[in-house]
Amino acid sequence: MTPFRFPDPPAGFRWQPLGPGEPLEALASRRFPARHGFTCRVRTRQADAPPLGVRDSLEADLDLLERAAGVQAVHALRQVHGNDVQVLRRAARPDAPAAGDALATLIPRTAVAIKAADCVPVLLTDPVSGAVAGAHAGWRGTLVRVVEAAVRALAAEAGAPPSRLRAVIGPAIRACCFEVGPEVVSAFREKGHDVDGFALPPRAAGRPHLDLVLANRLQLLTAGLPEDGIEDAGLCTRCQPAFHSYRREGPTVGRNWSVVVAGR
Ligand SMILES: [Zn+2]
Repeated sequence: MTPFRFPDPPAGFRWQPLGPGEPLEALASRRFPARHGFTCRVRTRQADAPPLGVRDSLEADLDLLERAAGVQAVHALRQVHGNDVQVLRRAARPDAPAAGDALATLIPRTAVAIKAADCVPVLLTDPVSGAVAGAHAGWRGTLVRVVEAAVRALAAEAGAPPSRLRAVIGPAIRACCFEVGPEVVSAFREKGHDVDGFALPPRAAGRPHLDLVLANRLQLLTAGLPEDGIEDAGLCTRCQPAFHSYRREGPTVGRNWSVVVAGR
């Protein structure tokens, strides 16, 4: 069997171990100043590497992510496509995850894990305090500005001006593949978004396409991040079969993990 081949990373990114523990390759930005990584459906390039992010083993994945990252706990959420932000107050993982779509922590050697299969994962850090956050922004989360809420919560928790925060956007469905109904465009317009700024005009007899990554980049800028403080992993989850993709695989799809570790 030939070894698994990870998709070519964009400039400024590379596939590398998530941490010092169990081997697990993740896509990471060279510039984002916190340990982090975006996983795909395979752990390592070994031909017989076991899968990752499979629907029925997401809970067990958290144990694996902890071992791979070498941290005391990796925390996930019960994601509900809203804009509630949770802030971690204890290092230990609770019996049941809290509901919400963004999670922030200042506790060193704890990590936040966001799961997504096409939705936009955004990781944030304050390089001075080492505080981190992750956010999950599908179109519904983007509509209710979950990323802006995550920036506000992290800035407050870290005692940092938003201009000090840094962000990295992970693999997500891109404008090439994110066709939506006209009612989705209308929903953005009704909520006051400048949707023409991130919607592509419908192709001949086609439906509109939204650039959710651009929409979330605009929210990061609105929230106060500097233009050069935002990295983007570029890859489209639907175009790249290495990633789990809801649009490509349907409701039984697994999830890609986006992990960021707190502490300087
Ligand atoms: Zn695509």
